[in-house]
Amino acid sequence: MSSIAVAVIGAAGRMGRQTCEAVEAADGLDLVARIDVGDDVAAALRDAGAQVAVDFTVPAVTEANVHAALDAGAHVVVGTTGWDEGSRGRVVEHLERLDAGLGVLIAPNFGLSAVLAMTFAAKAARYFESAEVVELHHPDKVDAPSGTARHTAAAIAAARAEAGLGAQPDATQEGFEARGADVDGVRVHAVRLRGLVAHEEILFGNAGEQLTIRQDSFDRASFMPGVVLAVREVVSRPGLTVGLENVLDLS
Ligand code: NAP
Repeated sequence: MSSIAVAVIGAAGRMGRQTCEAVEAADGLDLVARIDVGDDVAAALRDAGAQVAVDFTVPAVTEANVHAALDAGAHVVVGTTGWDEGSRGRVVEHLERLDAGLGVLIAPNFGLSAVLAMTFAAKAARYFESAEVVELHHPDKVDAPSGTARHTAAAIAAARAEAGLGAQPDATQEGFEARGADVDGVRVHAVRLRGLVAHEEILFGNAGEQLTIRQDSFDRASFMPGVVLAVREVVSRPGLTVGLENVLDLS
């Protein structure tokens, strides 16, 4: 079987550097380009003959990079955060317009512990009156709350809606800024602290009981098995896939 030609966008960044090493070490993957600020993404991908582009850049440019990669005929794996319904919708439109069998996989988190925490949280959500998400990261992170926390909160909200649960109890009448971001009715709190890497706690409450689901990513190396899996999978998954849980068999 021939190897998959992979280019990394944001190759000089923390995640990008680690991704380059992981691709070079992985069987069946061939690192063909390291792309960073100032490069013409589409041209660089075409010149390198990249089949899959992996984007670990910044929220402000990630969508443009995905469109450029699709125009260059590459599948895309996206780890950069900052995606919303609008930007995902524009990618779906682009994929449909091209009709070239290309796949885009956007994963707010490539870490197994994080993906499992999100999955368990979605399963638990229907059984609790209250649910809140706390994400904790290093202070160099530019966006808040994290994509993982938003994704977790949205999944909790969807599970609550499906179970027919109403709004969460909350008597707050002033000081709403202290209640965190509102993601589909689920409060999300962001902590930025030197020394942290990436952590998440999901708190569920009922009268007289609490469930806490917590995951900790201590090192960016923990994301690499998920990134490599996503690269291998995206080439046979046309269209947009959101979340690594859809690639892992967690049913
Ligand atoms: P980082 O160290 O700041 O790396 C971002 C890299 O992208 C930098 O080299 C930056 O260059 C480059 N860049 C900026 N604009 C670009 C452009 N237009 N074209 C190409 N490259 C460009 O950040 P990081 O820690 O690696 O994180 C990157 C993203 O991944 C963040 O959104 C983070 O939240 C996310 N993340 C996701 C996961 C996951 O599992 N999904 C895990 C960890 C992090 P300059 O420094 O010169 O601007």
